[in-house]
Order: sequence, then C-alpha cells, then structure tokens
Amino acid sequence: MSDISLLIHCCCAHCTAYTVKYWQEQGYNINALWYNPNIHPYIEHQNRLEAMKTLSNNIGFNLIVVEGYDFIEYFRRVAGHEAERCQYCFDIRLRKAVEVALGQGIKAFTSTLLISPHQKHDVLINISSKLAQDSNIEFLYADLRKRYSDSRHITKPMKLYRQQYCGCLYSEWERYTDLTVG
Ligand code: SF4
Repeated sequence: MSDISLLIHCCCAHCTAYTVKYWQEQGYNINALWYNPNIHPYIEHQNRLEAMKTLSNNIGFNLIVVEGYDFIEYFRRVAGHEAERCQYCFDIRLRKAVEVALGQGIKAFTSTLLISPHQKHDVLINISSKLAQDSNIEFLYADLRKRYSDSRHITKPMKLYRQQYCGCLYSEWERYTDLTVG
C-alpha cells in the first residue's frame, strides 16, 4: 500500500463516488478538487457543488473547493472553437488541478472525467500527459468507464442532485434539442 496523496479533479458527485473508492483501494490518500467553470448557469453549478459537499461528508474524503466561478474565462477560451470546446474545457479544469496539486505538495493527479462514457479519453490523456510533463507531476490514468453504473449505485441512496446535461450552455442546448453547436 502506498501513502502517496492524489488529487482528483471532480466533475460531479456521481462520477466521483466510485472514482474515489477505486483510488483509495490503490492506496492513495484522496484530495478531491471542485473547479468547474464549464457548468452553466450558476444555479446549476451550485446544485452540483452542493451534491459534491454532501458526498464528501457521507463518504469522508477531503474536498478542496476553488473559490470563484470563472465562467467568463471559460467562454473566452471556447469562443470561436465551439466544435472543439471539450478540449479547451478539459484544459482549463485540469490545468487548475495541476496548479492546486503542486500548491498542496501533491505529486499526482487524475480526473473523474475518466469514468464517464460520454467523455473523450484520447483527448483527456493527451492534455493530462502534456500538463504532467510540463509541470513534473504524475498523471494517473485508469479507464473506469465500465464502473460508471457502480458509481451511480453508490450515490443513489443519497438522493443527490442529478444533472441532465454535461455542463456548458452548449451541452444544455444539445440535450434539449436535436441540434449540435459548432
Ligand atoms: S460538453 Fe461538457 S466537456 Fe464539453 S465543453 Fe461542454 S461542459 Fe465541457
């Protein structure tokens, strides 16, 4: 068993539940990070953050919340690149994860995005590996997509707020129409 600390960037409570369990079982001390300026509108962001806080209390892991809601930075980065918005969205969030990890003396990071079958693993791996190389921090990869439903089973009895779309305004539009942005 390792006693190494790991920072997990968390996209939502439902993807966090099994991801935390998995990395705890690998022997890591878990620090979960909330930083998601891609979640719109603000009330939706707050609902998902409250769900994360409840999960943290119920399961018992350290939750770091980055104060502020950088949605303007998100739109500045994504504007004009809407079709490739996810890579900019991943980069903003994972870059912050690396910054927070290094600030806390944590030498490894990963993301709950890796449990979601809806996210692009090749893009996540490329961005995370580049950030790791540039910052001398380790990126831990595990393909947890087959455990997606296990994570939902953990959170179901907690009756946490459950989102209906990925997060950004674009994804909300696509969720409720037949149209695609970009
Ligand atoms: S669809 Fe999801 S991952 Fe892609 S930009 Fe929107 S919030 Fe980010």
